Amino acid sequence: MTKVAIEKCLEYEKELVKEKIETCLSAIGDLASFLKPNGRVFVKLNCVGGFSPDLGITTHPVFLEAIIEILKQYTSDIIVGDNPATKDLVSTLKRCKLYDVITKNNLKILKGDDLITIKNSKPKLYSSFEVSREMIEVDLLVNLPKLKTHSLTYMSIAEKNLFGMIYGLSKAGWHVKANNPLQFGEALNDLYGAILEAYQDKKMLHICDGIIGLEGEGPGTAGITKKAGAILASSDAVSLDRVAAEVCKLDPDKIFVTKIADERNYGEGNLERIEIVGKSLVAFADLRFQEPVNQTSTFGLKLLKYDFLRNLLLEHPLIEKDLCIKCGECVKICPPKTLKIKKGEFPYLKAKECIRCWCCAEVCPQNAIQKTKRPLIGRIALKNRN
Ligand code: SF4
Ligand code: SF4
Repeated sequence: MTKVAIEKCLEYEKELVKEKIETCLSAIGDLASFLKPNGRVFVKLNCVGGFSPDLGITTHPVFLEAIIEILKQYTSDIIVGDNPATKDLVSTLKRCKLYDVITKNNLKILKGDDLITIKNSKPKLYSSFEVSREMIEVDLLVNLPKLKTHSLTYMSIAEKNLFGMIYGLSKAGWHVKANNPLQFGEALNDLYGAILEAYQDKKMLHICDGIIGLEGEGPGTAGITKKAGAILASSDAVSLDRVAAEVCKLDPDKIFVTKIADERNYGEGNLERIEIVGKSLVAFADLRFQEPVNQTSTFGLKLLKYDFLRNLLLEHPLIEKDLCIKCGECVKICPPKTLKIKKGEFPYLKAKECIRCWCCAEVCPQNAIQKTKRPLIGRIALKNRN
């Protein structure tokens, strides 16, 4: 049995958050079992872009500070970072209001440019990934996902947050290599397998900040901020994600990234073999997250393996001109470069070339990227079924 701890925490009040995280940690084995004195820690934020913490998109500064104060009881050798989608890390940290917490506590910010290749010895699609040496040459990885839905992967929690370990802006390229949901799920798991191998003799802790999360069309501004009041912690990302789906009442059949991980034995995805400690699921009986509209049932995933069906079956991005400020962030990230912009004009796209990765919506600061209505044939073919 793997363990997932859940606690209820309704507000970002530092002492309260700290107490709840400590309760979670003691329920899964206390920090001393994860971190030797003066060990080196890498704290992986969820810092996809420069958003206000109140939106529920990025790691909240109070949550980070609570974690830091707990870690500092054991070590001061702490590196903090992420690979934001379009901007450099420092400016993104400032916009997310995380920078002051990091400097006030004299922590190191990930430099990131000294790269190493980590390998998955039994990959399905890809065996090698470039990541920063500073992320790997540590004693403990503390992964801090948010509790979010995701237009492409249905949920984006512990395992998906580790996609941000891929160096710099090269993450977007993986959406082109693995350009349908199922392939992307396999690629994410190839990466996760490589991370597990790289951390074979080290420890991992996944602590999810779900005090405020995101429902609907996450993981960016197209999602809806949701007061969820939950903190989850586990040493197993797969188990944490499976339990998070229960907490949010999301459909376990659609969490395909977790299902693939479970099939590959990267963690425990069977709820019956996961011990939930701390608060029980009953404490979250009234919580229900709105799903993203993208169909990710097993049946839909199989159809979407055929590229030509994508345009027949799926909605595509639509720029809301009333909201767009012509900043060009969506154009910068669009992996197949199908979004374009001319000086002073709104972005436009060739829908046929769009791979529906929704990276554009993830980085848009204005929630100006909406979805067209799904074509009728897609509504019929992808009707909610497994
Ligand atoms: S337009 Fe948006 S959804 Fe389409 S490929 Fe570009 S980033 Fe992805
Ligand atoms: S759609 Fe969003 S990201 Fe793209 S240019 Fe407009 S405001 Fe910027």
